[in-house]
Amino acid sequence: MQYRDNQNSGDKLSILGYGCMRLPSNNEKAEALLMQAYRSGVNYYDTAYLYPGSEETVGRFLAKNGIRENILIATKLPHTMCHTAVDFDRYFDIQKKRLQTGTIDYYLIHNISDLGQWERLCGLGIKDWIANKKSQGEISQIGFSYHGSQKDFLALLDAYEWDFVQIQYNYINIHYQAGVEGLMRAAEKGLPVIIMEPLLGGKLATGLPKEAVRIMQQADKDASPAGWALRWLWNQPEVTVVLSGMNETAQLDENLQLAEHAHAGMFTQAEDQVIHDVIDVFNASYKVPCTGCNYCMPCPKNINIPACFGAYNTSYAIGWMTGEMQYMNVTGIIGDNPRLAGDCIKCGQCESRCPQHIEIRKGLTSVKRRFEFPGLKSIAQFVRKMMHKRSVKKDAANS
Ligand code: SF4
Ligand code: SF4
Repeated sequence: MQYRDNQNSGDKLSILGYGCMRLPSNNEKAEALLMQAYRSGVNYYDTAYLYPGSEETVGRFLAKNGIRENILIATKLPHTMCHTAVDFDRYFDIQKKRLQTGTIDYYLIHNISDLGQWERLCGLGIKDWIANKKSQGEISQIGFSYHGSQKDFLALLDAYEWDFVQIQYNYINIHYQAGVEGLMRAAEKGLPVIIMEPLLGGKLATGLPKEAVRIMQQADKDASPAGWALRWLWNQPEVTVVLSGMNETAQLDENLQLAEHAHAGMFTQAEDQVIHDVIDVFNASYKVPCTGCNYCMPCPKNINIPACFGAYNTSYAIGWMTGEMQYMNVTGIIGDNPRLAGDCIKCGQCESRCPQHIEIRKGLTSVKRRFEFPGLKSIAQFVRKMMHKRSVKKDAANS
């Protein structure tokens, strides 16, 4: 495992961090993965109050194995749920209990999306609260995770004496949100930069257009798309830790292997060119920048928003028919309770929750236009009847 320095604290951070948002629900499996990562040198574990069951799992894992002192815990304050200064303590105390620790090494204000949100927290007295927690040794490093405009990110960097930051960054998002300019400015200020969404919700691992995969394989037949994306990040010295939500052993094995050999400045000019070519192909294919984070859910009409956008993007990246089949599947159009993009009542509840600031209502109208052709419902009904008949026949044959 390679490590990069936090020059402010003296911590050596593993370049691969464990993103604990979607740990397997099976405790045994989750703990086995966490232990494998720990034994291979991963020392940065990122969780949040809002990730269901995650803080508890991490806390249990650390306590059970007596390894709390060897790892760095990063977790986050759900700031939109804080209405008075008392709430800061309330959530923080719950988090310490869940994580079975008295100190949070890296504490973040979760998902700030504009300067106004920080100013509201300042009005509630968060600066005094942070100073107090730091002086008592309950918080070591303070930072924020960010999904907003680059302008506000740069303003936020100057608005407080942060110790570190966490941004969304990958080769498709070079000029999106904080972007490369934000990364550079944070690094100039000497702040460690933690990267989230390195694979853009998995798209850069398993959702690339065929042509993009071909370009990568032509350059190196053994390197996976995920490997290209992670190495592209570690190639940059301004990147400190890349978070990956690893919930399968194969994925963890691959990432550990990559983190063993990755170093800043390792990309050749030819490899840079591969990434440029892949970006061109990707941008020509993908229409909606949905990462599948699910923050917009639930929808009062039960529309599976990320799945609708997933099918929509697939229809451009891979082909209309593949996207249409995916759409029929995710909307359950053949079942009893179909939930189509066209059922959106445009209430707008989802949009304020989307960290990518996607115009979801408009997006779903495009999804509807692309997939809900006249006669679709009749075809679905016909397929449903056929399937029902077939299962009745099968039951009769088996009885
Ligand atoms: S705007 Fe549409 S998709 Fe969004 S929450 Fe309302 S009904 Fe659901
Ligand atoms: S629409 Fe936005 S909030 Fe919903 S899954 Fe996609 S990126 Fe996440």
